[in-house]
Amino acid sequence: MSLSSTSVLIIYTGGTIGMIENPGTGALESFNFEQLQKHVPELRRFAFRIDSLQFDPPMDSSDMDPGAWRRLVKIISDNYDNYNGFVILHGTDTMAFTASALSFMLEDLGKPVILTGSQLPIGVLRTDGKENLMTGIEIAAARDKNGDPLIPEVCIFFENHLMRGNRTTKMNAENFNAFRSFNCPPLATVGIHIKYDRSIRLHRKKGATLKPHDRLDTRVAILKLFPGIEENIVKAIFDIEGLKAVVLETYGSGNAPRKEWFVRHLREAGERGVVIVNITQCSAGSVEMRRYGNGYQLLEAGVVCGHDSTTEAAVTKLMFLLGQGYPPEKVRQLMELSIAGEIAEG
Ligand code: ASP
Repeated sequence: MSLSSTSVLIIYTGGTIGMIENPGTGALESFNFEQLQKHVPELRRFAFRIDSLQFDPPMDSSDMDPGAWRRLVKIISDNYDNYNGFVILHGTDTMAFTASALSFMLEDLGKPVILTGSQLPIGVLRTDGKENLMTGIEIAAARDKNGDPLIPEVCIFFENHLMRGNRTTKMNAENFNAFRSFNCPPLATVGIHIKYDRSIRLHRKKGATLKPHDRLDTRVAILKLFPGIEENIVKAIFDIEGLKAVVLETYGSGNAPRKEWFVRHLREAGERGVVIVNITQCSAGSVEMRRYGNGYQLLEAGVVCGHDSTTEAAVTKLMFLLGQGYPPEKVRQLMELSIAGEIAEG
């Protein structure tokens, strides 16, 4: 395997990394990809081909939506055979949602798709963008001695850690280490060396090839509990016309108030075919509905266990499964299983 035969495609969607301080006004403005190359002359030092594509205009990731995810899936599948890996430059705000969505939409992915961005624009002296970009490219290109990609999955690389995309959450709006993967160890740790941990990488079925998906059903809601939540709020959510699924963010190991009306609304919605998935508001750890009476009542009401899923993974997985047209029972079944490494089952 020669380095000169290696190639990486950078897909620039927008976000802080791609903003440059206008020296006149001091305001942050989006750049185009040629400008980025000017600010990162080090890109030329890679001994392999790096091509780029960009969203025009670049977007703040708060504007990300299923349409943009479909574009990314199409770009990756159209260019799949021509590159060893892909780097997506993306705003940090919704990066974990995009990484989660792509992990489901790119079924049987066999190449690295590395999302990265930065907290400070690439044109700023102390930027974290350069290091994230350069290392992201290196990881996207990394292959073993047989020429197979080291980490053939959707990941987020940020501040020294390569994390499984659908296990990651943005948890800091200020520090350079903006992301954490609380329930899954890093796939690589970056210091002087890039130390890969291949023991936890995803394994594809033998002979499987990429199956890109573009159907998502967005008729989902998130209901986060808090002490004092009123019945009319809960009822209003479950009464939403056309609602297909709810991610229920509960306390601790999956507990909710023992109120007759609360459980009744859940049960009735479930009977109408609404899929309700229980995930915890805690950053780390898992739902165990059999542990306390206050969790068990949810199990009895037909609520599905979301295990240690992040909110980002649960909501995008529901969109994906509903988009496949599966009936509620099948969606419930698959929500309890890992389909792209998004939960630790059991
Ligand atoms: N608002 C920006 C975005 O997500 C923030 C960032 O990139 O860090 O696009």
